[in-house]
Amino acid sequence: MQCPYCSSERLKVLDTADSREAIRRRRECLACGARFTTYERAVAVTPVLIKADGTREAFDREKLKRGIWHACAKRPIPALAVERLATNVERYLQALGQAEVSSRVVGDKVISELKDIDPIAYVRYAIVYLKLDSLYSVRAEIDKLLAEQNSSSAAVVGAQATEGSLIASNC
Ligand SMILES: [Zn+2]
Repeated sequence: MQCPYCSSERLKVLDTADSREAIRRRRECLACGARFTTYERAVAVTPVLIKADGTREAFDREKLKRGIWHACAKRPIPALAVERLATNVERYLQALGQAEVSSRVVGDKVISELKDIDPIAYVRYAIVYLKLDSLYSVRAEIDKLLAEQNSSSAAVVGAQATEGSLIASNC
């Protein structure tokens, strides 16, 4: 850190104030006597994506949203849900705290979230992202999804049955 007036690096901190957004420091230059303020803020950094061919690409939120929108075309999915999905992916990347990550990390995160939003959008995204290139591989993905849905609805039915039997025993 240099004095903004004389470029000396001989600085003294006069006082420090911590708030939610930043740490503020009053400083004094020991060379010219000028006083000035510095702010220290957290910066969220989104890692650079390493593509399958090894090339690097900056994370592009708009590009990500375009991909999601294609998968969601004509589906009853609110714009807000797409926006939230993009935000979740971006925060997830930032929380990894790495300078670079494989671009697969993005696709994996999108696909796992889309599964909970809309099954059709999920399958469309999976076809592109997982490069499903035959009807068999698409069917395998759909079968997997249906099996998961059945097991989760079976769990709900199970819970209701328990509830029902509790009510029955209370009567
Ligand atoms: Zn100075």
